[in-house]
Amino acid sequence: MQGLLHKLNSFFSPRAAKAPLEHPAEEVEISDTVYNNYSFIIGSVFSYFNDLPPESKLKFVKRVYQFKANKKFHYIGLENNDDTAILVSASAIQVTFGLKNYMMSYFRDIYVLADAYHMDNDEELYIGHVAPDGIYLSLKHFLYGYSTKTKDNVNVAVHEMAHALVYNNFFAQYGVDSHFRLNYEKFSSSTGAILADVITNRRSYLRSYAFSNLHEFWAVSVEAFFVNPAGLRLNMPELYEVLVRVLNQDPLTKNKIA
Ligand SMILES: [Zn+2]
Repeated sequence: MQGLLHKLNSFFSPRAAKAPLEHPAEEVEISDTVYNNYSFIIGSVFSYFNDLPPESKLKFVKRVYQFKANKKFHYIGLENNDDTAILVSASAIQVTFGLKNYMMSYFRDIYVLADAYHMDNDEELYIGHVAPDGIYLSLKHFLYGYSTKTKDNVNVAVHEMAHALVYNNFFAQYGVDSHFRLNYEKFSSSTGAILADVITNRRSYLRSYAFSNLHEFWAVSVEAFFVNPAGLRLNMPELYEVLVRVLNQDPLTKNKIA
C-alpha cells in the first residue's frame, strides 16, 4: 500500500448544474429475495453490517439498494459485476449511515478499476480518487481495506467516500445534509489544536498523509474511525468524539447511530 496514492481533482469549479437526482424515500419496499441477497453479499465483507441489529440491517440494505439504483457503475479491466456495485454502495452507506441525506447525488458515476492505475500525465499509481466526473476505486485495494487482516487504518473506499461527502455538501451542494454541514464546520475549526500537537510532537496515531491538508486530515481520520474505532478513541479521544458528532454515528455502539 505504501507509495500508492489517491488523488483529489479540483472541485473548486463545479460542473454546470444539472437536475439533482431524485432522493427516493427510505420507505422503498424490497423483497425478501433482494434483502437476503444483499445481506449475504454485504455480510461477506462488512463486519460493520454483521454487527447491526436486524432493524438496522434492513435500513442499511434499503439505503444500499437506493444508492446503487441511482448510480452508474463503470468497470475498467473488470467484468460488470453487480456484487461489486453492491459492495461499493455499502461503503458509501457505512460512512453516511448516521445522516439523513446519504445519496451524494452530485456523483452519478462510479468507476471501479481492477487494480492501481495511472492518471493522465502522471507517473504515480493511484488506488482511488474523487473527481467532478465521478468516484474512482481500485477493487483490489477496496477489498484490502475491508480485509480483517487490515490493521493499518487504510481503507480507500471509506477515504474516498469521506472526500465525496464533503464535496457533495460544500462544493456541489446537491442533496445537502444540514446536520453534516453544520458539524463539519465545527470539525474544521476544532482540528487546529490536534494539528498543532502533531506538528509539535512530530508523531501521531494517524498516518502522516493526514497532515497534508485539512481535506486529507478529514479523510484519513474517517478511515481510522471505521477501520479501528477503539484504537482511534483510545489514542485520539477528542477527534473520535468530533467524528461521532459530524457523522452522527458511533461505530463502537451496536446501533451505530449516535
Ligand atoms: Zn484523500
